Amino acid sequence: PSGLREVAIEIPSVRWDDIGGMHSVKQALREAVEWPHKAQRAMARLGAQVPRGVLLFGPPGCSKTLLAKAVASEARLNFLAVKAGELVSKYVGESEKAIAGLFARARATAPSIIFLDEIDGLVGSRDPAEATGGGGTGVSERLLSQLLTEMDGLLDRGGVTVLAATNRPDCLDPALLRPGRFDRLIHVPLPDKDARVEILRVQLRRCPMADDVDVELLAVRTAGYSGADLAAVVREAGLAALEEDLGAERVAMRHFGLALLLVQPSVTHSPHL
Ligand code: ATP
Repeated sequence: PSGLREVAIEIPSVRWDDIGGMHSVKQALREAVEWPHKAQRAMARLGAQVPRGVLLFGPPGCSKTLLAKAVASEARLNFLAVKAGELVSKYVGESEKAIAGLFARARATAPSIIFLDEIDGLVGSRDPAEATGGGGTGVSERLLSQLLTEMDGLLDRGGVTVLAATNRPDCLDPALLRPGRFDRLIHVPLPDKDARVEILRVQLRRCPMADDVDVELLAVRTAGYSGADLAAVVREAGLAALEEDLGAERVAMRHFGLALLLVQPSVTHSPHL
């Protein structure tokens, strides 16, 4: 019996507009994912290299998953999402089967995207803690080499893009970054002030606001907040309004003030991101 679940296949419904800011990231993703699917023959004719593997890296809660879904949705590509850790099975051979199955399904449903979240979970057993000691190789190393084999096998065959995400690029196995593998790296940073304005506007779409709500000022006061933190601020502001008055119909600036006291930036300074 395998603990590995079947991966659901669907075209997501996230639009570019559902993601605030991140304009250059969106553009880079279109170039790396959407264009090759649309213009594969033209790119081959001009000798342009079609990226097989694209890696999104940056702090948590900054829309890597949303971006992966949006590019699939906007380019009408089937989307197979899996957390790298979910592929790891302690049963001998199961992990390899899971990877092979994942790629087989991606090919069968092409044009498609495989989204491997938390790819830093896949490292070779150069890490001594991972070594099995019994002479065999560690699950993680076998999984990694299976993944690399599958990716190498994708070359020349159209229709499948592998998109991966990590919060810890420093923990990636260098084998993943060689040419023909994850050779397109896209940084997804913490939002700057203008991006925070846009993210707040997205998050506030369904929130009736009092006239005193100043989104620009909120963006100024949320330096260092991730997109996920900003979503939490909006949620807490709504709760604060209800706490004050269960019949409240609008969220006012004072409620955002309370929310800012409750929600602090979740990302502490990281030298790698
Ligand atoms: P993790 O590394 O923790 O998996 P992530 O980078 O994949 O995070 P997402 O899961 O895409 O981040 O974002 C988390 C949530 O934060 C989203 O569901 C959304 O509500 C909100 N969010 C993050 N960034 C944005 C953004 N740019 N615009 C709108 N909402 C955002």
